[in-house]
Amino acid sequence: MEEGKDEDLVIDIPVSGHRCPICGKEAVQRYKPFCSKRCADIDLNRWFTGVYHISSEESSEGGDQGEEGNQ
Ligand SMILES: [Zn+2]
Repeated sequence: MEEGKDEDLVIDIPVSGHRCPICGKEAVQRYKPFCSKRCADIDLNRWFTGVYHISSEESSEGGDQGEEGNQ
């Protein structure tokens, strides 16, 4: 059995000139433009939260129309 040959070789190569927008550390190739999966997740979460916020505002506007479907 070979022990995780490939996985061990996958190291996070820093991308010089790119800073993680979340924590300000140097970004890595693998999670560019972030420094780690963690920061990428944080950004993704922010994004989803923002979208959810916007769409919830919209749904309160069009929410009344749905109830007229009652016969
Ligand atoms: Zn980061």
